[in-house]
Amino acid sequence: MRSIINHLIQLQELTLVRDEKRSLLGPKADLSELNEAIGQMADSLDPAAKAIYTRLSKKDRIVVAPMHAGKCSMCGMGLAISQVQAVKQCKVLVTCPSCARILYDSAGPTWSGSRPRKPAAGTKAGIARFSAPELMIPDLKAKTEEEAIVELAESLRSAGFVETTEKLVSGAMAREKMFGTGVGHALAFPHVRGVEGGGLALAFGVSRAGIPWSGADGGVAKFVFFSAIPTATSVFYLKLLAGLAESYTKEANRKAALEADAPETLWKALAKATRWTVK
Ligand SMILES: [Zn+2]
Repeated sequence: MRSIINHLIQLQELTLVRDEKRSLLGPKADLSELNEAIGQMADSLDPAAKAIYTRLSKKDRIVVAPMHAGKCSMCGMGLAISQVQAVKQCKVLVTCPSCARILYDSAGPTWSGSRPRKPAAGTKAGIARFSAPELMIPDLKAKTEEEAIVELAESLRSAGFVETTEKLVSGAMAREKMFGTGVGHALAFPHVRGVEGGGLALAFGVSRAGIPWSGADGGVAKFVFFSAIPTATSVFYLKLLAGLAESYTKEANRKAALEADAPETLWKALAKATRWTVK
């Protein structure tokens, strides 16, 4: 059963990768390679899982959801002890009694640091809902994708979001290997999904020298946006991605980020650049 769950998770991740490409590139996106991979993965699913997947995927992008703290991470429904056990044992497919999504026991990263997990509602707007000055790195030392992801994940650790960075880094690297997150204009959007127990968080780093990045035009990324994404915010992330890309294809915003020499300056530049694109 674990292999069926893994198969479903990969299939879901690929469909989200396709959504990301679509939201970044619009109608001109070439999705043929992804469409083929998605078709092949769907065809090779176990028949019972395929029937559930096909039915649920007509309604929503998220069909498979991690169980977190005895609850469905998508709808928040608390599960009976017997259901929690069944999800953990993973011998049959267990679906959420409220939203009907397929549940799995996640070994993924969780927010567990000292930082308040969610800002109080209504106190912040725009980019400040997901990020903070201490998550800005105006001068990334990294020379590789992995080193950049480590530096940005480390900012989340030192700001008190997580206790360790290993799972953030390994999850983001697995995602890079699936499909590089460089998108041209020297922008890269590494991310890790399924980080439960808190809200979406964004760290931003700038490399003046540029870091070789797969998928990027010209092969380098200078503006690296690293996101840790709870499953329930997967669809919102697509909007955030599109908003950040829109802002940072503009020369004035790129210039301001490259000129920032302190986290506070980069933070102000990011807030200004995303004022109309991230809501
Ligand atoms: Zn649910």
